[in-house]
Amino acid sequence: MTESHEIQNLRYSRHLGLDDFTQQSQKKLATASVFIIGIGGLGTVASLYLANSGIGNIILNDYDSVDITNLPRQILFSSGDLGKNKAEIAKKKLLKFNPNINVRSLTEKLKEEKLGEMTLVVDAVLDCTDNLQSRLLINKVCIKNKKPLISGAAIRYEGHIAVFRNDIAIKSCYNCLYQQEDENIEDCEGSGILAPVAGTVGTVMATEAIKILVGKESMLDNRLWILDAKNNTNQVLKIRKSKTCQVCSL
Ligand SMILES: [Zn+2]
Repeated sequence: MTESHEIQNLRYSRHLGLDDFTQQSQKKLATASVFIIGIGGLGTVASLYLANSGIGNIILNDYDSVDITNLPRQILFSSGDLGKNKAEIAKKKLLKFNPNINVRSLTEKLKEEKLGEMTLVVDAVLDCTDNLQSRLLINKVCIKNKKPLISGAAIRYEGHIAVFRNDIAIKSCYNCLYQQEDENIEDCEGSGILAPVAGTVGTVMATEAIKILVGKESMLDNRLWILDAKNNTNQVLKIRKSKTCQVCSL
């Protein structure tokens, strides 16, 4: 059951205590919609923070089911969820955390047309997938539909986060950074991942999404933030338009 206005003001009072965050900002979050693709190590954490922060409409997509190797970092899931669809389980859990929001789950592998359709009805897209092919496709539909894209990746002790404000100006894109031929065999299964590093990336993605949804700037727009949790270093690289990129030149 949805909480009263007064109770919700109390729930979000620590947001409202920020000097640049108003009732209007929280209202914007309540009417905002996000599309989170991939409910794994990044998606579980990003979706949990976005749900608890009061994002009113969350669409979750994952066709995969919960596996025991997921449990250390995919913190919405526990042993009782093994074998069940990730988006479906995440939806149930998020609604328990925050009954004031709407959550929709899509449990199939989305093709370009459906991805485009879903992207069109939201305010921001979070790419929490774990393979280059999906990332390039999501990048393509976000450019086509001029939607902000927040892209994250985590492997070993390293996290990558990039933001593309395609809604403001298309300056460069994910395809300028990586192209299909860059597909390599590195993944969490092969290279490993320290569980909380995935959470760090998911948390940064949720933060960037909230900034965009309340109308703030993202300093990561057309930039890639590389966090090295082993050596505690980080770098921010500008993503320049690639002359050979066919996606953002159109
Ligand atoms: Zn490009």
